[in-house]
Amino acid sequence: MPAPTGADGARLPLREDLRGLEPYGAPQLDVPVVLNVNENPYPPSPAVVEEIAAAVRTAAGGLNRYPDREFEALRADLAAYLLAESGVALDVRQVWAANGSNEVMLHLLQAFGGPGRTAVSFAPTYSMYPEYARDTATAWVVGRRAEDFSLDPDHAAAVIAEHQPSVVLLASPNNPTGTALPRATVEVVLEAADAVPGGCVVVVDEAYGEFRRAGTPAALELLAEHPNLAVSRTMSKAFGMAGARIGYLAAAPALVDALRVVRLPYHLSAVTQAVARAALAHAGELMAQVAGLREERDATVAWLRAQGWRVADSDANFVLFGRFDDRHAVWQGLLDRGVLIREVGPPGWLRVSIGTPEEMAAFREALLAVTR
Ligand code: PMP
Repeated sequence: MPAPTGADGARLPLREDLRGLEPYGAPQLDVPVVLNVNENPYPPSPAVVEEIAAAVRTAAGGLNRYPDREFEALRADLAAYLLAESGVALDVRQVWAANGSNEVMLHLLQAFGGPGRTAVSFAPTYSMYPEYARDTATAWVVGRRAEDFSLDPDHAAAVIAEHQPSVVLLASPNNPTGTALPRATVEVVLEAADAVPGGCVVVVDEAYGEFRRAGTPAALELLAEHPNLAVSRTMSKAFGMAGARIGYLAAAPALVDALRVVRLPYHLSAVTQAVARAALAHAGELMAQVAGLREERDATVAWLRAQGWRVADSDANFVLFGRFDDRHAVWQGLLDRGVLIREVGPPGWLRVSIGTPEEMAAFREALLAVTR
């Protein structure tokens, strides 16, 4: 669908800075092998589907009423999940949720960004970040990641000192590169944020946190010491619940209270809450495939390197590889063979999400056919 800027759109009072823009999103194509938006390739089991359906049926009986605006039962379930996953104990008041972590982060920018304020991140990174800034009229400053996609702590601190942002967005593992941040780097960023006179919230976006390799820390462990840290997570990736639209966040109670001010009332529907709670009750089963996906990821990295490609180290469920003189031709060649990947990242690179072993075999075969 075209953006509303055609002949009719010209008469709409569309904001100046939105004119001519296209809606964000990867192509939605119906092909046999879909490896382009970092989904979990495994649907919920029939047993979990039944549990979710039963929870929705119960919720449906009360749909004449608005849902629980504070969704404290869901927040408690999320806190219990984070305790089990990362060993970090959180109070219900430290947990927030919304329709995908995209909405969680938009809440953050609504509360802590805004006109006259600046948000900072380091590219290449998740391409929605500048859109949260744009949509909240927050100035956007982008620093850089190193050649190997790591973040130089001195550079990060210098950008923060120069631009005095009120929000810093760090994806770890980073999309589209897969790079996780060492704890020391996050600590340097937090220190630089503490030195911003007006205060600065540091958002560590751990959408892919559950895929991290052994030894890679979760930023959740830093929460107790840092009231300006927000750790964003999602049920879209490791949980395999992208269709349910549930993202969440852990932070100090005062930070969460600020998000409660900007959220729309009843933003999480009763159906969403029921689905999320039923899924969390079966977290073990839904996450059973995560170890296999990690192995498949490591095997994909090794295979691509063995073919001679450059491959970024990945702590996520996708792999960035290259470099291709004409990456669009490679992307198109794969698509012609029924394999949809993502044309994203620095020039010459492509990103493939980790699918089932069969899907990855189809990807390898198609890539060889296109490039050899
Ligand atoms: N953060 C990162 C780094 C992502 O890659 C994505 C999804 N691609 C999101 C956040 C948002 O995911 P969701 O809204 O489904 O939680």
